[in-house]
Amino acid sequence: MKSKINRREFLTKCSMVGFTGCGLMVCSGISALEPFAEFAYGEEIDPKKLNYCGYKCPEECQFLKGSLEDNIELKKEAYELWKIKERFDIEFDPDKIFCFGCKTTDKPEGVVLVNCTVRSCAISKEYDCCIECLELVDCDKDLWSRFPEFKKQVIELQKKYLEEKQ
Ligand code: SF4
Ligand code: SF4
Repeated sequence: MKSKINRREFLTKCSMVGFTGCGLMVCSGISALEPFAEFAYGEEIDPKKLNYCGYKCPEECQFLKGSLEDNIELKKEAYELWKIKERFDIEFDPDKIFCFGCKTTDKPEGVVLVNCTVRSCAISKEYDCCIECLELVDCDKDLWSRFPEFKKQVIELQKKYLEEKQ
């Protein structure tokens, strides 16, 4: 049987391993499937409820919290944790560093979203999530190359999703 960790343990482990981006980029050291648990082991898998890559943002994400509260300290922490300077060569500016979630429609898109090639590709193909895309297994987008374990788990999620649709 799959061992489970609760959301708080998940977030604690994430911060311990030191992630570098949204979602799985942060948590490469633990089971990437945990954010999918409610779909994998419960309700029907719904691409609309997942981010474009298949991840679900933790409810307590400090980047989101900092953005909603316009909290400069939290934004600064997220800026460093997400390695925004190294990845995008952007100096810290609280007015420019924010994230309102992968699927935000009524808020501006932050730098991580704007630069995510998986997100832009899924949007261009009018998918709610890459699990709807039959090119997923062979897709060589940067996110998948950097997080192959995550990709494997998204592929597993896709199999379950396609089985459910039959
Ligand atoms: S699709 Fe990109 S921006 Fe959205 S959660 Fe996944 S990695 Fe982050
Ligand atoms: S080709 Fe398919 S799997 Fe790859 S990023 Fe685009 S929508 Fe996602």
